[in-house]
Amino acid sequence: MERRKIRRLLVANRGEIAIRIFRAATELGIRTIAIYSEQDNFSLHRFKADESYLVGAGKGPIEAYLDIESIIEVAKRNQVDAIHPGYGFLAENAEFAKRCEEEGIIFIGPSPDLIHKFGDKVEARNMAVNAGIPVIPGTEEPIESVEDAIQFAKEFGYPIIIKGVSGGGGRGMRIVRSEDELQEAIERAQSEARSAFGNAKVYLERYLEKPKHIEVQIIGDQHGNIVHLYERDCSIQRRHQKVVEVAPSLSLSKDLREEICAAALKLMKSVGYTNAGTVEFLVTPDQKFYFIEVNPRIQVEHTITELITGIDIVQTQIRIAEGYALNDPEIAIPAQENIQTTGYAIQCRVTTEDPENGFMPDTGRLLAYRSGGGFGVRLDAGNAYTGATITPYYDSLLVKISTYGVTFEQAAQKMLRTLREFRIRGVKTNLLFLENVVTHPDFLSGNYDTSFIDTKPELFK
Ligand code: ADP
Repeated sequence: MERRKIRRLLVANRGEIAIRIFRAATELGIRTIAIYSEQDNFSLHRFKADESYLVGAGKGPIEAYLDIESIIEVAKRNQVDAIHPGYGFLAENAEFAKRCEEEGIIFIGPSPDLIHKFGDKVEARNMAVNAGIPVIPGTEEPIESVEDAIQFAKEFGYPIIIKGVSGGGGRGMRIVRSEDELQEAIERAQSEARSAFGNAKVYLERYLEKPKHIEVQIIGDQHGNIVHLYERDCSIQRRHQKVVEVAPSLSLSKDLREEICAAALKLMKSVGYTNAGTVEFLVTPDQKFYFIEVNPRIQVEHTITELITGIDIVQTQIRIAEGYALNDPEIAIPAQENIQTTGYAIQCRVTTEDPENGFMPDTGRLLAYRSGGGFGVRLDAGNAYTGATITPYYDSLLVKISTYGVTFEQAAQKMLRTLREFRIRGVKTNLLFLENVVTHPDFLSGNYDTSFIDTKPELFK
C-alpha cells in the first residue's frame, strides 16, 4: 500500500474531541482546520486550530455539523488531505465516509462498508455470531410487531430490553418486565428511535441484571495487522450512559480478561477491521461475557487506555490512515504479546448538569473556571474557561479528567484531589456527584456493575 502524507487535517467536530485531535495532529507537524456552526462562533475549538471555517450557514446548531456537502465543500476549497470525524455527529455516517473517499479525501476511520454494517446493531450481532462470539439472546432481525415480541418473550422470558437498531448514546432503550408493558414500550421505543436516529426499527434482547460493561480497544492497520489494547470498565453509568471509566478493570480474572480481549480481536480480524474501534461486552455476575456492539470510531474514554499503554491512539489513527504499519517506527506498536499495560487510569466526565435537578443540563456564563492539575492528571476540555458561554445546543460534557496511578488507589486519590481543586462558578456541574462516586467504598473495591448509580441514593447528597 502506498503512503499518502497528510499535510492538512480537518476535524468535522467540536468541543473537547476536536481539540484533542488538533493536538495530536500538531505534534505530527500537520496543519489543523476547524469547522464551526454559527452558534459556535466563540467556541474554543475553533481558536485551537490553525484555520477555521463556518459550515452550515443558516442551519441549526447540530445540523451544521451534519451538513455533509457544506463540510466537503470547505475541505475541498482549503486543500484538506484528510478528515477526522471524532465521535458523534458524522463519525458513524457511512455516507460521509464515502463522500470523502469520492472526493479523494482520506476519512480517518474504518471503511464505509464496515461503518454501515456496525451501524446496524442487529447486523453487528449477526457478525459476532458468525465469528463465534457469544451474544445475548436476542432477535436476529428487527421486530415487526408486538406479536414478534410476545413470541420472543415466551421463548427467552422477561425482562427484555428494547433497543434501536441504529441506537447510540444509551438513548431509546426500554426495559420491559411483563407482557402488559410490552405494547406501549415498543411504540415508545420506536417513536424515540425515529426522532433520535431517523430509524424507527427496534430489536429485542434479554435484559441482563447487574452486568458489568467491559469494552476492548482495537487498532488495525491497512496491512492486515491488528491488535487489542486491553479493556476499559465502563460500568459506572447513568441511564445507560458512561460517567466514570476505569482501565484496566479491577474485577476480571486474568483468564477472563484474556478471553474477552481475544474474542474482541477475533471479531475485528474476521471483518478485516482497520483504524481504531471498540468492541463492547456485558459481563454477568457468573463471569459469562456477551457481545453488545462495536463502535467504529474513537471513543470519549480512549484517554485511559492511552495512559496505561503509553500509546497515542489518535496519532496512531492518523498514521494508519496515511498507510503506516503498526510496527513502523513512526507508530511503534509492538506485536500483541509484547503490548502491556502498567498502572491504572480513571476518567471522570465533568458535565454542566445539575445532579439535584435530575441532571438537567445547565447553561450560561462560566463566571469562574479554575481547573485542577498536577502529576498524573490529564485534562481534555472543551469550551472551558472563565467567561465562556455554555449554550444549550450541544452535549453537556465540559472537561474530561483522566488520572493515572501505579495502583488503583493512587489513581483514585489523584482523581479526588483534582475534583476538589476545581472551581466552576456560574453554571452547575456534576463535580460533587463525581466526588461521591470516586470515594464510594464499592467503587474503590471494584465491587460495582451498571446498576451502581441507580442503587445508591447517597451519591446524590
Ligand atoms: P448505546 O449504543 O446506546 O450506548 P449499548 O448497546 O452500547 O447502547 O448499551 C449501553 C448500555 O445499556 C450498556 O452498557 C448496558 O448498561 C445497557 N444494556 C444494553 N443492553 C443490555 C442488555 N441486554 N442487558 C442489560 N443491560 C443492557
